[in-house]
Amino acid sequence: MGVPKKKTTSTKIRQRQHANSKIEAPAMVECAHCHKLTQPHHVCASCGYYKDRHEVEVVVKEHKKQMRGR
Ligand SMILES: [Zn+2]
Repeated sequence: MGVPKKKTTSTKIRQRQHANSKIEAPAMVECAHCHKLTQPHHVCASCGYYKDRHEVEVVVKEHKKQMRGR
C-alpha cells in the first residue's frame, strides 16, 4: 500500500479545502406584495410582508443621519 512520504502541512490542507469553497449569491424571489427581489422564506426587507401578512414595520434609517449631524 502506498504510504505518504511527508506529512501534509496545515497550509496544504487549508488550500485544498479552500479550493472547493466559494461564496454564492443568495437565491432571490419576487415579493408577492411589492414585487421587489427578496430572499425566499424571509420577510421582505422593503415592505415587511411575508406570505400576504404584514409581519414587521419597516423602519427608515433616520437614526444614522441624526447621529451624523451632531
Ligand atoms: Zn415586499
